[in-house]
Amino acid sequence: MKATYIFGAGDVRVLDAPDPKIIQPTDAIVRVTRACVCGSDLHPYHSLPSTPSGRTMGHELIGVVDEIGADVATVKPGDFVISPFAFSDGTCQFCRESLQTSCEHGAFWNAPAQGTGGAQAEAARIPLADGTLVKVPGTVDESMYAGLLTLSDVYGTGWHAAVRAGVTTGDTVAVIGDGAVGLMAVLSAKQLGAERIILMGRHQARTALGREFGATDVVAERGEEGIARVLELTGGHGARRVLEAVGHLPAYEQAVGIVRPGGIISRVGVPQYEQGELGWSFFGKNTTLTGGPAPVRAYIEQLLPAVLDGTAQPGKVFDREINLTEIPEGYAAMNGRTALKVMVRP
Ligand SMILES: [Zn+2]
Repeated sequence: MKATYIFGAGDVRVLDAPDPKIIQPTDAIVRVTRACVCGSDLHPYHSLPSTPSGRTMGHELIGVVDEIGADVATVKPGDFVISPFAFSDGTCQFCRESLQTSCEHGAFWNAPAQGTGGAQAEAARIPLADGTLVKVPGTVDESMYAGLLTLSDVYGTGWHAAVRAGVTTGDTVAVIGDGAVGLMAVLSAKQLGAERIILMGRHQARTALGREFGATDVVAERGEEGIARVLELTGGHGARRVLEAVGHLPAYEQAVGIVRPGGIISRVGVPQYEQGELGWSFFGKNTTLTGGPAPVRAYIEQLLPAVLDGTAQPGKVFDREINLTEIPEGYAAMNGRTALKVMVRP
């Protein structure tokens, strides 16, 4: 099969790779229908040191089950499935608490120790298939791919940001970041009843989509100016719920600056920093800090019906579709911000 590898910053290639095989009786092999490039894939794309052996890439996929191990009971060959960006057994104490990203037997894709490759490939071995995969009911046609694929990561991640922040009816919410996850956080906040949603982002096509998803205000300014603008929009108090969907330190500092006294900062952008403000600017407002890797597996069944009946249209975040062989261009387009989110057709 063909699969995507990264060999260092800016060096992504599609190569011939061994076909994935059933290793454990709990595995399934899924033929990938669509995968995509994630904002978090850009972190190694920016900074991975030269890696001559290469690393597989991709963690978001929908596809059709091709083969199952002897112990797999919930999916069968021919089923159309959504795979979350981490695999999990569905039975350990953390899975039972809907914290599948901390599963005692799970891991993330592209974990060589677990023998998992990447999703930007023609096929993938899915460990712990019963805990991991969600079968899509009914007939799936091509027009549904984009929406379903968001349930693999970005929609569930945006939803997690909003849920962890406790967004509820009538809330004022600020979302930092106009990438796919930020826009999904806007959609999620709207679905959870937020009345006012301030989107911080400066890319006009993206913030326009954010308005479509429910943003009531857009703040293009950053840093101190951005903070001042949000305070001005909120009567000087700040936002009760701040959803941070970037992962860089300035975004976190912005979150600390715009959170209302007694408010919550919920982070889902993978932090690219180890140290940040925790002193008086944070403490003085009785701020709560939460968030982390989204257990998207916990949310798929809940979010799926609105995607299937079209009441939610998260698939609009995909603005480019490419063949697997074009993946270097896909990364370059996401990196250059000429594409919001790139869908990959193996
Ligand atoms: Zn588990």
